[in-house]
Amino acid sequence: MSATHDDGGCRQAAAPSAPRLSASEPNTLPEVFDRAVRRFADRPALDFFGRKWTYRDVGELTDRVAEGLIRLGVGHGVKVGLCLPNSPYSVVFYFAILKSGGTVVNYNPLYTPRECLAQILDSDTTIMVLPDIERVYGPVAAVADEAGLRHLVVCPFADALPFGRGVLYRLFKRTEKARVHDDARHVSFSKLLSGRSATQRRPAPRPDDVALLQYTGGTTGVPKGAMLTHANLAGNVRQLSPLMQGGGLRDGQERALAVIPLFHVFAMTVAMNLALDMGAQIVLVPQFKIEELLATIARTKPTFFPAVPTIFAAINKAAETADVDLRSIRLCISGGAPLPAEVGARFEALTGCRLSEGYGLTESSPVVSVNPFDARRRAGSVGLPLVDTTIEIRDPNCPDRLMPAGAKGEVYIRGPQIMAGYWRRPADSSEVLVDGALRTGDVGYRDPEGFLFLVDRIKDLIICGGYNVYPRQIEDALYEHEAVEEVVAIGIPDAYRGESPKAFVKLRAGFPTTPDELRAFLSERISKIEMPREIEIRTSLPKTAVGKLSKKELIAEERERAGLAAMNRRASA
Ligand code: AMP
Repeated sequence: MSATHDDGGCRQAAAPSAPRLSASEPNTLPEVFDRAVRRFADRPALDFFGRKWTYRDVGELTDRVAEGLIRLGVGHGVKVGLCLPNSPYSVVFYFAILKSGGTVVNYNPLYTPRECLAQILDSDTTIMVLPDIERVYGPVAAVADEAGLRHLVVCPFADALPFGRGVLYRLFKRTEKARVHDDARHVSFSKLLSGRSATQRRPAPRPDDVALLQYTGGTTGVPKGAMLTHANLAGNVRQLSPLMQGGGLRDGQERALAVIPLFHVFAMTVAMNLALDMGAQIVLVPQFKIEELLATIARTKPTFFPAVPTIFAAINKAAETADVDLRSIRLCISGGAPLPAEVGARFEALTGCRLSEGYGLTESSPVVSVNPFDARRRAGSVGLPLVDTTIEIRDPNCPDRLMPAGAKGEVYIRGPQIMAGYWRRPADSSEVLVDGALRTGDVGYRDPEGFLFLVDRIKDLIICGGYNVYPRQIEDALYEHEAVEEVVAIGIPDAYRGESPKAFVKLRAGFPTTPDELRAFLSERISKIEMPREIEIRTSLPKTAVGKLSKKELIAEERERAGLAAMNRRASA
């Protein structure tokens, strides 16, 4: 790291150098995928409740789906939404869209109709791929007209399962199977595959083409699509591979457990793209239910397990009472939220694995740094930057100035994984892309050996069980209620999820309402994960000197209350 520090005022930050990646490696996602299909053709690629597909099977099916998508009009720059729980369809459609030249737009299958509509309109999604499960299909179908969706490609979920409806019933109640409309807009999976071969093949995507629009609140909370190119996403795979090999993972030998949702960038890169590049068998789990997960671990004996701290903590807790053998697991990456030291240590003791914490953002495809899997690792650190990545710590009050080792500042990142910008938001893009570096909104420091430690966030964000919840979304939804005059949403400490949202509300005079009524109002507008754990009605809310609503007093109050509660628990134990 060649950071310079200038005590005498602001000086242009020097760009530190880093090792270069080999230029001969795949630089688009179809190249990564096709190489894996060639290298590992006969090896199992996917496991879904015991039903398996080899790399050759997945390669052939993906090519047929790509042809079907081309017949539907997918080509360069056409946005195709993926709104799927983890399943073979997630993997096949992801690569088929990319092979047909299109751009993937990831949707959270638990979105409300409103959230779906906003993202479809913002991204220009014209085709949506979704399962025949009412909870996912319903909200999209409800807005399909208004959103101007040209096609809904509906995947029969039970058909991907080994014993059809039996497992489906266990997973999603039978009543949840969607009644799919029968009209020209709807295309069934079998119909998609049934047409004649496309006569014209589309040109292969180029490294600088946008492969994915991944929605995030970024530093402001307003949802926007991070444009991740093929070079960004393929680059992050190439940056991670040497690290995984160093950690003892072997090509064509591993089983990767994919329970974190593939519509989130961490799972997409680590549990799917990287796992395929290594020729691993990906064990797809559509929903996080602890008993189901433990049964899957017992059945499939995974070796590689990327997940978020809440999932590691849940397994630790379940292992206190259940008799589970977790010793197949050898290597884990925890990401998305801070990993409490005791959770990591307990999970390592239970499994005998190496669990390292990583750090990243949607805007960086996502991985930036990972704690090494060997004796060099540092407790509490999110590790060393990946190859070809530089981390700069800049003075928040004078961003041109780099801070010396040990001093805190805002974290900036440079590397091949940094996004091209936000879709149609040049002003937001230039806020966070500064001289080619990504401004993260995270606060941290580096020790003399270059290990990164995160200490705080400048951006207004709650990380709840590994999911990002933006207070702004909750506040905007509450302001739509006629009784709400002022509202502040913050994250409060939560022993299980790390943080949970809480809303403080001041009511308009003459409009009485209750927290339960506000909660019912919110359930139509925000997703379950965003729903405040508590809504507190107050007669006034704290303000800054200029009269703006202020969060810091409420955050301090809640931290103090959580600290006292923990002290009382310890005293009575
Ligand atoms: P996302 O864009 O959803 O991937 O969220 C990115 C944000 O998650 C980062 O800017 C951090 O604030 C937070 N984050 C990711 N990994 C970690 C980690 N290991 N420890 C603490 N915060 C993290």
